[in-house]
Amino acid sequence: MIGLSVLGRLRFRLLIGMSLVVLVGLFGTAVIYVRQAEEAILAEHQRALHKVTDAVGTSLESIMAGGHAEVAAEFTRRLAGIGGARRFLIVRIDGTPAFRDNVTIERVNARLGYPAFELRNDGEAAPAPIPEAVRQEFARVVSGREAVDITRFEPDGERLSLFLDPIFARPVCAECHDDGQPVRGVVVLETSFRAVEHDMSEARVQALIGLVIALAVTMLLTGYLLGRLLFRPIEGVTRAMRRVATGDWEHGVPVESDDEIGQMASSFNLMRERLKANYLSLLAEQDKLTTILLTSHEAVVVTDRDGQVVLVNPAAEEILGKSAAQICEEGFDNIVDHPGIIHSLLIGEQECERVQLQYRGRMLAVSASTICDSGGTVIGSAALIRDVEDEHRLREQLSAMARTDELTGLLNRRHLDLRFAEEFERMGIRGRPLAVVIFDVDHFKRFNDEHGHEAGDRVLQAVSRRARETLRCYDVLGRYGGEEFVAVLPGLHCGDATPVAERLRRDVEQLDVGGLRVTISIGIACTEAVAAASPIELLSAADSALYRAKSAGRNRAETAVSA
Ligand code: GH3
Ligand code: MG
Ligand code: MG
Repeated sequence: MIGLSVLGRLRFRLLIGMSLVVLVGLFGTAVIYVRQAEEAILAEHQRALHKVTDAVGTSLESIMAGGHAEVAAEFTRRLAGIGGARRFLIVRIDGTPAFRDNVTIERVNARLGYPAFELRNDGEAAPAPIPEAVRQEFARVVSGREAVDITRFEPDGERLSLFLDPIFARPVCAECHDDGQPVRGVVVLETSFRAVEHDMSEARVQALIGLVIALAVTMLLTGYLLGRLLFRPIEGVTRAMRRVATGDWEHGVPVESDDEIGQMASSFNLMRERLKANYLSLLAEQDKLTTILLTSHEAVVVTDRDGQVVLVNPAAEEILGKSAAQICEEGFDNIVDHPGIIHSLLIGEQECERVQLQYRGRMLAVSASTICDSGGTVIGSAALIRDVEDEHRLREQLSAMARTDELTGLLNRRHLDLRFAEEFERMGIRGRPLAVVIFDVDHFKRFNDEHGHEAGDRVLQAVSRRARETLRCYDVLGRYGGEEFVAVLPGLHCGDATPVAERLRRDVEQLDVGGLRVTISIGIACTEAVAAASPIELLSAADSALYRAKSAGRNRAETAVSA
């Protein structure tokens, strides 16, 4: 991250890119410049040649006009010796060298009629005439009357310039020459381009040096300006971003200008401030959550998206009786040793979100669900487990209290009515008989009056106990009120209910409650005999039978015969 490679840095990539662009531009400029310089050198060279050949032509005309043909011969000989010229001579219009033989002298002497010019006899070899290869150009010089510059190459590659410049006939020439030609001869000057090429290569080298210097200066200046105006501020922002990424919220970026970079720096500072505030509030929330988790009495076990347990709070260790490491190792499904239950809670198979189950002798309430992010993707699961053993026990006690009579332990009136209604309906549905027995302690008031209320209570407890012992376990027995009790006997026909009631009466009669004797009177009603539409009607029939038993002298059982 920190050590970006040279090529990885925008600064250098941009500089290299710009260098290439500038190099192409400068190179193009240099090529054009060099070409123009070369053309200028060549043009100057040609102008110089022209001047030289013009001067030669003019001098020769002057010499010849003065009648000094021998001087002209010497002049042309000396021209040949001029340094730098490969060939410098004057030729006739037929291409042969002039002033080197007696052809013209003899013709002029003949024309004049006397030996005006002495014949030459110096024995010097005449220079070569105009080569055949340039005869065409030579003819053009003579006929077109204009100078021609011919370029040719030596076998060794040396470039040569053959410059042909016409010498024009003057009126004075007609005294000796009568051929009427406008061009009298041609100045031939052949020079090497070596010096010119040397100049041109120097121009190229200078252009190259200029190119390199211009490129270097351009890139140095561009690099300096880009670095100062663009990259330094950008790198400042980048450094600050890197610090923020590693959790250092304290360093902002200096805002040094109002331009885009300055705005970027201020936007970054603003963003950093907001991120910092959010981060700190998240930390605070995290602290709160951690505190809640650590101090919670409810066990919390959380997994990651792969189902690995990643969080176990101390309450979980305590309630489950396992270490956090053991819980992690056994896995989320086995936290309460009932893998099926956790799985069914997670997939929503259970009717309630929370199930109660026995775990190592205690009742636990367990809920488990998947955790999703805001996009609905599952990011883990969580289980909440509460030890509800005490609650469970209390609830059981409350439920029992709500159902039973405190003094006798039998069903209380409210629950007795409920159970009676259930059995009445159940037996009715099945088409089975049901008998109801109501019994009342005889002269109970006397126990209270003669032996005290506690003795009366003991009598009621003893009668209740005995009745419970006498009846079947699935017979419903409850305290109807005061010293009245009701027994619901499902499935009993009238013929079976009467002996049961009789046995009950006898069993109670045999009781000895602290020296006290007790009897009961009983009323019986059966669904077979009484067409009762409701439990109340059946009970009412039994109550009528009880009334008859009381009236008939007590300590006896009477059966209701019809409604
Ligand atoms: P009978 O033979 O006609 O049934 O006469 P009885 O005295 O039993 O009937 P009565 O209805 O006159 O008296 C019932 C008494 O039972 C009145 C009341 O004080 C007493 N009693 C009702 N509930 C309790 C109780 O929970 N404990 C005690 N000790 N006495 C109760
Ligand atoms: Mg009574
Ligand atoms: Mg009574």
